[in-house]
Amino acid sequence: MTCGVAILGSTGSIGTSTLQVLRRQRERFRVVALTAHSNAELLEDQAAEWRPAYVGLVNSGKGADCLVEAATRADVQIVVNAVVGAAGLEATLAALRAGKRVALANKEALVMAGELVSEAARAGGGEIVPVDSEHSAVLQCITGRRPGELARLILTASGGPFRTWTPERLAGATVAEALQHPTWKMGKKITVDSATLVNKALEVIEAHFLFGLPYAAVQVVVHPQSVVHAFVEFVDGSVLAQIGFPTMELPILYALTHPERVPDGGARRFDPVEAGALTFEPVRPELYPAYALGRAAGEQGGTAPAAFNAANEVAVQLFLEGRIRFGKIAETIERVLAAQWPPSAQSLEDVLAADAVARRLAREAACS
Ligand code: NDP
Ligand code: MG
Repeated sequence: MTCGVAILGSTGSIGTSTLQVLRRQRERFRVVALTAHSNAELLEDQAAEWRPAYVGLVNSGKGADCLVEAATRADVQIVVNAVVGAAGLEATLAALRAGKRVALANKEALVMAGELVSEAARAGGGEIVPVDSEHSAVLQCITGRRPGELARLILTASGGPFRTWTPERLAGATVAEALQHPTWKMGKKITVDSATLVNKALEVIEAHFLFGLPYAAVQVVVHPQSVVHAFVEFVDGSVLAQIGFPTMELPILYALTHPERVPDGGARRFDPVEAGALTFEPVRPELYPAYALGRAAGEQGGTAPAAFNAANEVAVQLFLEGRIRFGKIAETIERVLAAQWPPSAQSLEDVLAADAVARRLAREAACS
């Protein structure tokens, strides 16, 4: 029997990498649902190749409901959530409540509503398995261990394209410069998030919710080669790391098969000599002001992480449209987080209300 997979956001970077993995794993998995936002042409090509039972395009008559419909089908066992941004939240909640495994690339939803997502998994018997490479690395290191044995995580960050820039030059970086990621080829939003290090702040919050560690035990180090994906320290002081040349295909495959491993010939095999020197540096706070803001929002808890995420989504969109300069992304986030954020994020209404207010404040702050 093959396992039914729904891919939400099948036309994006993670979506197409997922299909690339599944081309090699047809005896284990079958694609039963695909969704996209507006790229009808690629979605049609994918549908012709995979013949899924369900195809949904948000930017058509179907609207956003198609994500939940695809995620909760009876013939789906695994939902790969590769949607970008807050739009992925409701489908993750619905899939977990329906008892599915969610292979989660859509970190924004977990950041917005970590408690609700964890609660949905408990209530419905669903399971979240991270696709994000750092979190996959952690999961691979801790699988088989008891939760009390885990002491500390160190997530790696490439540092993005501006790692060696001065703060003054950085404030005026162009869209083209921000989209030149040194080690990963990804969608535009996460590529900008990697340049501001917002991505790493989102990942710290993601790790807090996935692995149940306090923020002080989730640390970050800059590692320009992106070969070590994370370090995991255990209570006895021993440290494990997961290593590989940068590719999302391995963490995607592992999210589908965890805790098992299956033979796969897709990824370039690791060679330490080819990898060469591996270097590690502290995060330079003056280069990445949004990183500390995101960590602080995580520690504040309640609806602050949702506000952080929403402010960033609005600011990144405006930056990509050429309407604000790079430095304004962090300034916008700072202005939004200065407002009072309700401490309760217990219901979807609480979270969506904070998201909406933060988006409005962000537009005002960005354009002032
Ligand atoms: P892309 O922009 O490449 O793809 C996004 C996908 O989501 C597309 O299929 C897009 O459809 C769809 N989509 C966009 N907006 C909506 C919406 N409002 N409703 C429904 N579907 C929508 O992003 P990535 O693949 O790079 O990233 C996806 C997620 O994975 C993000 O959360 C990112 O942080 C995370 N991630 C990505 C990594 C990477 O290597 N790319 C690594 C780790 C995490 P359409 O094409 O029609 O617009
Ligand atoms: Mg990552």
